[in-house]
Amino acid sequence: MTDASRFSGGHCLPRNYAEELLIIDRGSGVWLYDRGGNRYLDMGSGIAVNALGYGREDLAEIASAQMRKVIHVSNLYTTEPTLQLARHLADAQIGAWNPDFGAVHFGNSGAEANEAAIKYARVYAQRTHGPQKHKLLGFHNGFHGRTLGALSLTYTPKYRTPFEPLLPGCVFAPFNDGAALEAALDDSFAGVIVEVVQGEGGLACMTPQFAESLNRLCRKHKVLLIADEVQTGLGRTGNLFGSEAVGLHPDIVSLSKPLGGGLPLSATLINRRINDVLEIGDHGTTFGGGPVTAAVALRVWQIIADPAFLVDVRHRASHLEHCLRELARRFDFTGQPCGMGLLRGLPVQAAERRLPDVMTAILTAARDRGLLLLRSGSNVIRIAPPLVISEREIDEGCAILESSLRAVATQFKGELHE
Ligand code: PLP
Repeated sequence: MTDASRFSGGHCLPRNYAEELLIIDRGSGVWLYDRGGNRYLDMGSGIAVNALGYGREDLAEIASAQMRKVIHVSNLYTTEPTLQLARHLADAQIGAWNPDFGAVHFGNSGAEANEAAIKYARVYAQRTHGPQKHKLLGFHNGFHGRTLGALSLTYTPKYRTPFEPLLPGCVFAPFNDGAALEAALDDSFAGVIVEVVQGEGGLACMTPQFAESLNRLCRKHKVLLIADEVQTGLGRTGNLFGSEAVGLHPDIVSLSKPLGGGLPLSATLINRRINDVLEIGDHGTTFGGGPVTAAVALRVWQIIADPAFLVDVRHRASHLEHCLRELARRFDFTGQPCGMGLLRGLPVQAAERRLPDVMTAILTAARDRGLLLLRSGSNVIRIAPPLVISEREIDEGCAILESSLRAVATQFKGELHE
């Protein structure tokens, strides 16, 4: 197999993407196949999107049937799948807690879901308290997307600085630090945005104590609590919402990645109080929540919201956790596994100046052995397989990861473990 049949060369995609990209031809279950016929166990799910795996005939049937009926109507009109999906999402409970969602705004991406969340927080604060209540709080290592509003609450300087100045009134506090939150928050804030697991920022998990501080302090200062569940939502943590796992009580929830079964779709769930202050034209979208994506999402929701499905995810997650713990014990340059559910990380220790090369070498070695992985932050190998992965496939993935780590340990002999 020549490399030319596997990789793009001299492509016309912008230079913010890698020069050499794998050319994927098709997928089936948890496997992807490149143009050269090589197969890969996908433990990244297209950045935590393909929860139900590839090649789903049920989703393809639903999409094609809906495409024959009507593909697009805009938000001047609506369709039955869109209305049904909104109803299911608005009726959702977060564990035993009823968030009283009054409405759902559909969009096309995680960043768009958060743009809507930020706008709803601002409009609610302005209409109920006045324009001085407009500030927004995010957290160290938080990631909320690359559009300018969401980017303003994304912490990593590499993503932000080339595009400054960003939205005014955005500040950051340390994650999982109740005292720092207490010091940072006051009545001038409209919203706080937070992830239950920092998916892009190193896979730190929110503690239940911090969730309790967020609930309490946001109520005290009448600040809307936004849970960015773009990555943690819809089964990824073993719960329907990650917020359930830690006892977070958000007023707004952003969902996206798995929602459309691989089609672009996001949803911003807002509580009834927020919905009550909205006026026609406050926000809108041309494509968001169209009938095809909504019809597919209805099926995705039906599968993932089934408690029996979530029990299976939790079993697979504890198997993955066990395998990663075993793996971490075999290498002195890997730290304790982190993350939650089927969103897990394995930290890598190396001299800071060598970390980017070491991380790239690990992901490349895995890819060349038929395993696709992600990274999170600067030093964490991120594992976010389709939720339907079997225990045997998890074992297979971990065996490939082990052989990749061995190869990299040899390649960087003497430079790892700092
Ligand atoms: N929020 C979180 C928590 C994410 O993990 C991501 C993407 O990784 C986003 C927002 C942005 O989503 P998108 O890339 O679909 O805009």
